Formats: sequence, structure tokens, C-alpha cells
Amino acid sequence: MAKLIIKDLHVQINEKEILKGINLEVDTHEIHAIMGPNGQGKSTLLSAIMGDPKFTVTKGSITFDGKDVLAMSVDERSRVGIFLGMQYPAEIPGVNNSDFMRAAMNARLEKPISLFKFIKEMEGAIEDLGLQSEMAHRNLNEGFSGGEKKRNEIVQMKLLKPSLAMLDEIDSGLDVDALQIVANAVYELFNSQDLSLLIVSHYERFLDLIKPTHVHVLLDGKIQETGGYELIKKIDTEGYDWVYDKYGVEK
Ligand code: ADP
Ligand code: MG
Ligand code: MG
Repeated sequence: MAKLIIKDLHVQINEKEILKGINLEVDTHEIHAIMGPNGQGKSTLLSAIMGDPKFTVTKGSITFDGKDVLAMSVDERSRVGIFLGMQYPAEIPGVNNSDFMRAAMNARLEKPISLFKFIKEMEGAIEDLGLQSEMAHRNLNEGFSGGEKKRNEIVQMKLLKPSLAMLDEIDSGLDVDALQIVANAVYELFNSQDLSLLIVSHYERFLDLIKPTHVHVLLDGKIQETGGYELIKKIDTEGYDWVYDKYGVEK
């Protein structure tokens, strides 16, 4: 069982402080939703956990399963089971989607996966996500539609079987049917293995399908409000003004 523990995390980008003391604990079999207005640091938080070098941690700690995450490279973080499905997946010209996936899987395995087993798993995941089978052979994200990029992130998640999956606005750009397919795939993985989820989303509709166990509002670089499912409903009907007022944050 692997627990993520974040204590007093401060993160800067270009010398500007974005995260101003994040405290968060996410345990196995928990689903945490991070909500909040745009530009408050949600993506910064997930990127800092994954180890994106653009973000500088100036204070605080992150541990996963008792190990010091901040001391690890991005690859090491992936090997201990941390996964980030990105808000804006990058196009990687010249890198074939399935070659990329097989390399990512093999980097986490003691013994490389057989080609036969890999193809079977990749084809299965692509089918589960309602994507065309030719997606496996195209360059990673090159010319993929917004929705295809997001679904391909979930293909990666299914193949890598992380123990902590972070999904950054994975629901944005998806039509209603795709939303259901992605939510089902995430939920199915959650129910079939030891997994914790950290999900950034603005949409009640998606969160309704995923059913978070904990809900947080990130505002001005801090988690200001934490609650349960009812918080999603409150935000959906009332917006965030009351959070600004309650915690004395300037708009
Ligand atoms: P959210 O995901 O909550 O919308 P972000 O974490 O993406 O917010 O951004 C938080 C703040 O950091 C914003 O003010 C944003 O403009 C700034 N920021 C994010 N990435 C960069 C970057 N690469 N360069 C400069 N500022 C950035
Ligand atoms: Mg945003
Ligand atoms: Mg964001």
C-alpha cells in the first residue's frame, strides 16, 4: 500500500511562487479531486509531483510509500508507480506511439514484455478507449484530435498500471460519449488494482462518474477547503466566490 504525503510544499516557476504551502495525503483506494479557478496552481501541483524541471520546489516534502519523491528523477518516479495524464499532452514527432509505450513499460519491468503480450495489451487498451487500432502506429500525439490525445493518455495509464495516477483535466475536450468511456476506463482500473487517484477537473459531470472520496479547492496556491462529494455540488451551483470570501483571498 503506497501513500502520497505532501507537506508544506512551495513551488516556484520563473521565480514566481505558485504553490504556497500545500498539505495533502492521498492513500490507496482514495480518489481525490482538486478543483479551483484557472491559474491557481492545480497543474503546477501535479507537475511538481511528477518532477517537471520547469517547476522549482523551494520548501516542503513529498513522499510516496515512505520514499523521498523530490530526490527522484522523473523516470524513477514513474518506476515507483507515479503517472501523470497531462492537460496538454505533447506531440512527439518521429516517435511512434507503440514504441514509446513499450519503452515506457519496459523501463518499469525487470524483464522486457514480450512483443506478443505487448501488442495484445496495447490493442486491448486502444479498443477499450474506443480509439482506432491505427493509433498504435502513428507518431505520439501528432495530429491527434484533442479527445484522441486525452484518450491516449488513458491508454498509457492502463498499460503502465500505476499505483498513483494523476489526471489533469483529462475530461476537457471530450464529447459526452468519450467522457463516459474515459470515466469507465479509469474507474475499472481503480477497482481492479491498488490505485490512488488525484484528479483535476472542472466538471461535475465527469466527477459524478468517478465519485471522488475527497474534494479539495485550490486557491491562491493553497488547498483552502476540503470536503466530500457535496463540495462538488456546491461549486457547481455557487461557483468559487464563497471560497474567496471565506478565506479572504483577493480576486
Ligand atoms: P491551473 O492548472 O490551476 O489552471 P497552473 O498551475 O497551470 O494553474 O498555473 C498557475 C500559475 O502559474 C498561473 O499564473 C500560470 O500563468 C503560471 N504558470 C504556469 N506555467 C507557467 C510557465 N511555464 N511559465 C510561466 N508561468 C507559468
Ligand atoms: Mg487551467
Ligand atoms: Mg491546469
